[in-house]
Parts: sequence; structure tokens; C-alpha cells
Amino acid sequence: MNNQLYGNLIFELSRPGRCGYSLPKNKFGHHEVPAEMRRKADAELPECDELTVVRHYTNLSNNNFGVNNGFYPLGSCTMKYNPIINEEIAAMPQFAAIHPLQPEDTCQGALQVYYDMQKALAAITGLEEFTLNPFAGAHGELTGLMIIRAYHQSRGDMKRTKVIVPDSAHGTNPASAAVCGLEIIEVKSTAEGVVDVNDLRGLLDDTVAAMMMTNPNTLGLFEPEIPEIQRLVHECGGLMYYDGANLNPMLGVCRPGDMGFDVMHINLHKTFSTPHGGGGPGSGPVGVRKGLEKFLPVPKVEKIGDTYHIVTNGEGNIHVGEFFGNFGVMLKAYTYILTLGNEHIKLVGPLATLNANYIKESLKDCYELPIGSVCKHEFVFNGLKYKSTGVTTMDVAKRLLDYGYHAPTIYFPLLFHEAMMIEPTENESKETIDSFIGTLRKIAEEAASNPDVVKTAPHNTPTGRVDDVLAAKQPILTWKQMKSI
Ligand SMILES: *Cc1c(COP(=O)(O)O)cnc(C)c1O
Repeated sequence: MNNQLYGNLIFELSRPGRCGYSLPKNKFGHHEVPAEMRRKADAELPECDELTVVRHYTNLSNNNFGVNNGFYPLGSCTMKYNPIINEEIAAMPQFAAIHPLQPEDTCQGALQVYYDMQKALAAITGLEEFTLNPFAGAHGELTGLMIIRAYHQSRGDMKRTKVIVPDSAHGTNPASAAVCGLEIIEVKSTAEGVVDVNDLRGLLDDTVAAMMMTNPNTLGLFEPEIPEIQRLVHECGGLMYYDGANLNPMLGVCRPGDMGFDVMHINLHKTFSTPHGGGGPGSGPVGVRKGLEKFLPVPKVEKIGDTYHIVTNGEGNIHVGEFFGNFGVMLKAYTYILTLGNEHIKLVGPLATLNANYIKESLKDCYELPIGSVCKHEFVFNGLKYKSTGVTTMDVAKRLLDYGYHAPTIYFPLLFHEAMMIEPTENESKETIDSFIGTLRKIAEEAASNPDVVKTAPHNTPTGRVDDVLAAKQPILTWKQMKSI
């Protein structure tokens, strides 16, 4: 690739008078734009021929890394292959061209998809009913906490203002609780990386609105004390919230509803294969146990006889968006569920778990494994086992880019200094996983024999190591023309 020519910003490729498109002839007669609405000067837009534009964006897109390019073991994010049939269904004009204000008798098929999808999630999780409206996992958490608050308030119980969150939780848990106006109380983890029930006992009283739990937790561990935890929290009048962003390892194995959880969210964009990244698009459906359905947000879809109806008023009076969320994401996730069917969806959890444990066991002689028990869909290394040459988790992550892999999630969870969280998903072949293991092994050898090559990585990517502190403090997000004075 000729970076000189194509790596430039599109504005720098601009030449005065060049044109890539001309508008069709005006068929509607001449209508003056009112004087006060007219531009005083021309808009500063790049002027390029069509081929230059096509090459520019195609070359930029080749610098992207996605699941369709290579292995993407980003823990907690479940970067799962999105089969093309998902895209084909979501792009069908019968779905894609619907207007949100269309009368319900003209979009019965779409309403049926919404209704059947929420039923499918209810069956998968053992809960009663779902809303598909929230736009992301964090939005689902906020919705779920609003439901919990509405439930307590409906009983006249106004003093419940606290939410218990484990110290291993995803950052969105305390953030959502804070946005909902609730106070966050942290419960500690044991040395084995699971919720410390003794610590929890001391935190429970009649001001607790709910406890949020992620299971398997962010260390990829199944929380073994859930029966006792849910008993204690319910006994003090609180509700149990399940962060099901990563439901992958549970599919077909066990259900949050059966474990005593009252409210949960799922990330369709992690668990059910729909693509995500760069802030969207997402979908964070929220499910509730029997008795809490009336607090679900509106609009929702009801089935009466053979027809589907849009319901626009609900008892909890919770609105998390005017319409039905990211419908395209639901279509992709629903297609994925139907493609696997009842029988094959049961294999997702066991295969994701097998792949994660295989990587963990194959590399624990060269990477530090702080918690050695059987993991679920992901696990955490605490950097290299031998740290004497000063090679950090950041360096290993950057070196992986040189070998054509996306980096794992790093420095999360916060329980370990050099955390490296690896999640392979169920889709990867043994050959792919073996070559990833071989590469991480090779990097561990380099860290011992030639640490500088790892510390200065990446060497083969279009941009070298960026100063991420500067990028976070002074982000340059728009191109500004440097005008000569
Ligand atoms: C990703 C994730 C979330 C948040 O989901 P978003 O869609 O990114 O808002 C919450 N909890 C856990 C455990 C997650 O992995």
C-alpha cells in the first residue's frame, strides 16, 4: 500500500474543482432558499474524484481489525462471529424499511419477531417477561434498577437506597446505580475470586434495594454461593439483579431465573453474536420474574389471539426510549437463536468453556495464573510468569498485534495489577487456538531473550505505539484545516 498517497486524510487529497458526483437535473422547478438560510461562504468540503474516495476509504477499512480478519480474544466483550445470514435477515426491506410510527396492523411480522424474541429469552433465562428496548448493557442495568426502584416504591418502601456491588464487577454496575440515584456498597471477593459471603452479611439491612451479581463473574468463575447469597438478600427485602452481559457459558446449562434472580439484563451484542464495537449498535434486553412484569417499560408488544398490539402505558411508568430499541440487532440475535435451535444452543456454553480452559492450561507455565480453578468462558492471567525483564501486560498486548491477533482485554478486572483477560468464544477451531497459544508462548520467550522487541511493539502496524494518556487527555477528533495567516 502506498501510504504516501492513501494514508492521508481525505481533506489533504482534495484538489480545487475536482468532483466525484453531480446531482440529477432538478425536475421540480426553481424554489429560492430564503436569504437568511443561505450560506455566506462555501462549505469546506473535500473535492475529490470518485476513485480517490473509494481507494481512500477501502484502504482505511483494511486497517481495521475484526472477527472476520482474525482471532479476537477480548475478554468480557465476547467478540463472536456474526454469520452473514444474520445480516441478510436484518437487511430485508420488510424489516429495514418499517417506519416507527407505522400502524400496528401493517407491521405484524416485526411485532411478532419482538414478541417471540422476548419469549425466547424468557425460556433461555427462566424469567417471566422481557423488554427489548434498552440500547446497551449499561442501559439495561439502568432500566433494571429503575424497575427495582419502582417495585420498592409501589410498596411504599422508600428507604431502600443502596445497591450492593462486588469489587470484581464491571464498571458499568456502579455507574448505572449512581445514574439511578442509588448508593453503591462494595462487597469484597475472597482469595478464590468469588463473592465473600461473610463480608456480605455485614452489609445487609432494610436500606438495601438490590444486589447486582455478574455470573460467571469477571474472572470467568461461576459464583458457587448464589443459593446462600440470594437467600440472605431476599431475607432482608432486597432484590437480586443478574448482570447477564456475558451469558455465553450459561446457554443451555443453567438459568438465572432458577437461581433466584428477580431482574437481569443480557447483552445481545455479546451473547447472541451480533457485531459490536466503537460504541454500538447494541441491545440490552431486561427480564423480570413473575410478579414484576407490570413494571417493565413501555412500549411493549402484547399478543391477543393471533394479533400483536403495541402497549404504550405501563404501571412503572418507565421510559427508556420512545420506540422498540435497536430492532436490527434483535433480528440478528433472533436469527442466531433460530439457526442454532434448541438442540445446538446447548453446546455454546460447554464449547466456550472448553476453549477457555484449554488456553489457560496450555499457557500457565509461562503466564501467571492467579486463580487456577476451572473457569467458564474466560479467565485472567496476571501478566508474564517471569517478570524480571520488566515486560508488562501492555507490551505483550502490543506485540500480539504484530502477529496478527487482536489483544485480549488488559488491566481489567482491577483485582490484579497485570490482568490479561482472555475469551476465545465457542466458534474457534483447535488450529486457530493452537496457533494463538504458540504465539503467546513465543512472546514469553522474546520477553526473556529480547525484551526490547516486546517493549517497543507494535512494529508491523500502520501506526506504532500511541501515547494513550495524551490521546485520552487531548483527543483530536475532527480535522481542522490549518489556515495560513
Ligand atoms: C459489556 C459488559 C457490560 C456493559 O455492556 P455495554 O453494552 O457495553 O453497555 C456490563 N457488564 C458486563 C459484565 C459486561 O461485560
